[in-house]
Amino acid sequence: MDRMRIVLTGDRPTGPLHIGHYAGSLANRLLLQDRYKQYVMIADVQALTDNYENPQKVRENVVEVALDYLAVGIDPAKTTIFIQSLIPEIAELTIFYLNLVTVNRLRRNPTVKTEINQKGYGENVTAGFLMYPVSQAADITVVRADCVPVGEDQLPMIEQTNEIVRTFNRIYRTDALVEAEALIPKVARLPGTDGKAKMSKSLGNAIYLSDSAEVVKQKIMNMYTDPNHLRVTDPGKVEGNPVFDYLDAFDADVKTVQEMKDHYQQGGLGDMVVKKRLLEIMQAFLEPIRSRRALLSQDKKAVMDVLKKGTLQTREVAQQTMSRVKNAMHLDYGF
Ligand code: ATP
Ligand code: MG
Repeated sequence: MDRMRIVLTGDRPTGPLHIGHYAGSLANRLLLQDRYKQYVMIADVQALTDNYENPQKVRENVVEVALDYLAVGIDPAKTTIFIQSLIPEIAELTIFYLNLVTVNRLRRNPTVKTEINQKGYGENVTAGFLMYPVSQAADITVVRADCVPVGEDQLPMIEQTNEIVRTFNRIYRTDALVEAEALIPKVARLPGTDGKAKMSKSLGNAIYLSDSAEVVKQKIMNMYTDPNHLRVTDPGKVEGNPVFDYLDAFDADVKTVQEMKDHYQQGGLGDMVVKKRLLEIMQAFLEPIRSRRALLSQDKKAVMDVLKKGTLQTREVAQQTMSRVKNAMHLDYGF
């Protein structure tokens, strides 16, 4: 039997969740919640690092993200859902960890580097944005998580977290902090509908779990495919063609998908046929989520109660971690 693991993940409430979140992380969370102690964090503080001028947007999306969780089947009886800004221990830990990381190391983080370029921050990147991986190390360690089911883009964050954990434990001669392992799914990164490497809220290339049937249809029918596949009879490319990536992620009939890929590569299979198949698969997947979401959104108070309960539970664990950390750092004053 597996040793009891502690799982933590989170999402930034900068918009509702999309099928990339599902493939990258939500699907694994649904599996893990039956076996382990699982925490899911709504990362409002992290969302502010690039949305500090729009706190209202972050606040509104906290509820949207919580609704997405409940609609896909994250069960509050099994999973503790909490709000990051209500756990002050995370901010405290972040301050302690910042001493253990160099600015150069933060600048070298590949995901942060990519994001700084995408957002055009250049030399004007804020200290808050640059150090968000440190805050993420605090999120993971505050509940002593040893398993983090995430998409591929998060690997550098887990690596950075473990470096901090090892440095902390070595310098303060303690085992207060626990290293974490990333759990990466089969489809480690879902591309956008525009064919860009990553589906992302901020790139505007996402299919949301809450999109209406009509919007899903439009998005799929307008999806990027192989631009050189002009006539049905032309051989087409499967690599870099997001329609096939989505089928890989969501179509359980692996054999049929493989046959379609072979046919497409030989020539004779049109984009429309493949897109229609994908549309059917996605509607069948999204419809139950959509209707559960509509039902749940009628009682926002019940959703907030789930978050309150989860946050109070997390707070208790966070305080335990904090007392171990302060003890190791000789910051226990006894009053
Ligand atoms: P933003 O544009 O605000 O950064 P995002 O769409 O990149 O939003 P995050 O909230 O940054 O989403 O990511 C939350 C989690 O979802 C992470 O574990 C991340 O790896 C996963 N994830 C996000 N987008 C994808 C994707 N396209 N494929 C796989 N996993 C993804
Ligand atoms: Mg992101």
